[in-house]
Amino acid sequence: MAESTSKNEKKICCVCNATSDEKVILQAEEKGKEVGVCVHCLPMLIHGAH
Ligand SMILES: [Zn+2]
Repeated sequence: MAESTSKNEKKICCVCNATSDEKVILQAEEKGKEVGVCVHCLPMLIHGAH
């Protein structure tokens, strides 16, 4: 694997897959794993709508 100089990790909402180009993506953590979630989906996660 080639070593990339810049870490180009795009933040994507784990719920609706929106990118930070479309919405504000917040960094969150789920089960020890870092995930992104947009401000639109964050309330759903807080209220646990599944
Ligand atoms: Zn979202």
